[in-house]
Amino acid sequence: MRTTYAYTKAAPDTDLTLTQISRRDLRPDDVAIDVTYCGVCHSDLHEIDQGNTYPLVPGHEFTGVVTAVGSSVSRFRVGDAVAVGNIVDSCGTCPMCEVGQENYCTSFPTLTYGGTDRHDGRPTLGAYANEYVATEGFVYHLPGNLEAPAVAPLMCAGVTVWEPLKRWEVGPGKKVGVVGLGGLGHLAVKFAHALGAHVVLFTTSAAKGEGAKELGVDEVVVSRDAAAMEARSGQLDFILDTASAAHDLTPYLRALKLDGTLCSLGALGSMSFDPLALLVGRKSLASAGSGGRRGTQQMLDFCAEHHITAEVEVMPARQVNEALARLRRNDVRYRFVLDMHQN
Ligand code: NAP
Ligand code: ZN
Repeated sequence: MRTTYAYTKAAPDTDLTLTQISRRDLRPDDVAIDVTYCGVCHSDLHEIDQGNTYPLVPGHEFTGVVTAVGSSVSRFRVGDAVAVGNIVDSCGTCPMCEVGQENYCTSFPTLTYGGTDRHDGRPTLGAYANEYVATEGFVYHLPGNLEAPAVAPLMCAGVTVWEPLKRWEVGPGKKVGVVGLGGLGHLAVKFAHALGAHVVLFTTSAAKGEGAKELGVDEVVVSRDAAAMEARSGQLDFILDTASAAHDLTPYLRALKLDGTLCSLGALGSMSFDPLALLVGRKSLASAGSGGRRGTQQMLDFCAEHHITAEVEVMPARQVNEALARLRRNDVRYRFVLDMHQN
């Protein structure tokens, strides 16, 4: 076993503390990665606040540098700059994997943390850590023209919004709504704008309005204003809902045009809506989770070409509990990224 240090939640009602953990010895197709930057995803916070598996090491969108490679690794060499997202393995043979949607692997993809390694059966521990060991097939080259800290959030937040934007053909002539301007939402805005769509932001935070325009938002709607919501009825082709807390979907379904789709990515467990709002206008309610390898690479190529990265506030890793507390109260523009070399 290899050992490294990680910010670990050891028991309920405790902060994360720096703890020694073990990583597997390299298998032939593994690479060892010195983690440089790790984004703080709201899913980390959900797991910290509501999970019940310990020890928990969060972190599933990160960059790093390869420090060792297994005997059969062909795509990476020691010293390569890399990035990894929230899936680190899959069965590779099911219909989902065959079409490049490893994120929907029918025997469940191996999650970067909170999962179970499909070869040795050990629980996976995430990248709020100094080292991560991953199968090379789920490791990506860092685009050479982009800054590592701002790439880290692309690996979960980015690909999670990228795949639905592509699936529902967001582009010129389309009016697209984005609900929530956080980690996922601000990248959805940047992508939709770069794809040529007209972007309408629905936010609970009126104060985010001006900054939103710089990201590519064309119109801002404060979603707590019922009259403003009503005024949007029947206008949008597609809405991507990234809000992290439970809310009623009905006003967003009403904001769609005939045959429009609302894709909900955020608080899935507690969805509510008026079925009549689906019926009137033949609307669809959809969802999606993460991205496959093909989509992830396509997104990275698009970001490199259009020079798109996340807006980040980099914090020393030792301030992880402060970053989590601020994320809990929606005080971030728009993604915290931990500098893992500052323990
Ligand atoms: P985030 O950075 O905290 O952003 C969430 C945004 O939701 C906030 O910025 C806020 O935007 C809005 N919001 C917060 N509280 C709200 C409330 N009470 N009602 C309505 N809106 C509220 O979170 P994130 O990292 O982008 O993640 C967003 C959600 O997606 C989380 O639930 C996360 O677990 C989930 N997620 C899903 C996947 C997937 O694969 N499906 C992947 C990653 C994350 P405004 O201030 O603009 O209102
Ligand atoms: Zn995430």
